[in-house]
Amino acid sequence: MSNKEDEIVFLGSGGGRIHIRTQYRATGGILFKFNGIQAHIDPGPGAIVRINQYNEDPLKTELFFVTHFHVDHFNDIQVMIEASRNRFYDNERKLVKKGILFAPQNVINYISQYHQNMLEKIIPFKAGDTFNYNGIEIIGTKVEHTKIQGFGVKFKLKDYSIAFSSDTMVFDKFPDQFHGIDILVLNLLRPNSIYCKRHLCTDEVIPYLNKIDPTPNTLIITHFGAYMDSPRSDRNFVPSQVKKLQEQTEIKRVIAAEDGMKLKIFDLLN
Ligand SMILES: [Zn+2]
Ligand SMILES: [Zn+2]
Repeated sequence: MSNKEDEIVFLGSGGGRIHIRTQYRATGGILFKFNGIQAHIDPGPGAIVRINQYNEDPLKTELFFVTHFHVDHFNDIQVMIEASRNRFYDNERKLVKKGILFAPQNVINYISQYHQNMLEKIIPFKAGDTFNYNGIEIIGTKVEHTKIQGFGVKFKLKDYSIAFSSDTMVFDKFPDQFHGIDILVLNLLRPNSIYCKRHLCTDEVIPYLNKIDPTPNTLIITHFGAYMDSPRSDRNFVPSQVKKLQEQTEIKRVIAAEDGMKLKIFDLLN
């Protein structure tokens, strides 16, 4: 299958506790569809509602990623595992096994035995790990977030590479792990210089984005927190952050995620 069909669907563009509560921006995570495979990354609260609302099909999900043990990333994982099959038992009354979960061990421990038994495979995953799935290399990237374990995830396909940063701050080797990617999906919680010791704000990430070599074709920002756009913020800062990133980096295309947004990979590569 060519990458013409490959797609990213935002089942939410919000992150953090205000959006969890208000759903002002949804928190359902991201669908990444590649080579006819559907992956669900970070199914947070409401993932099951959003996947239906945006006319996507939970039955198609075969890879699940939970990047860390924060509720806006793992809340609906058990629901999504259940929703990924319409048959629970085979003719011998054995649970039908389907899907692979990539998650840190503490997330795996939290998932009920019943739901674990539904999966074909569970991969305890961390930064630096690689896994080959049908010829596609899946790589855990490093995060500096909280004390808990976590990872970002990078997919190396035949025609392109894409990375999902997950929640992180910047650190020395941050740009290195994105060398050679075409598309970066960046969790950008806060605008301008509103610093947070666990997350990114725009001004602090810009110099690091400029060190990614070669420059990615596309940057997509998402996982916006309450300072960025919420009933609490003075205004929606997202458009001004897109403009700033466009002006102050070499990246050709900067896109802000919106709830329900669907992007064809093919349109992001040139
Ligand atoms: Zn988060
Ligand atoms: Zn987090």
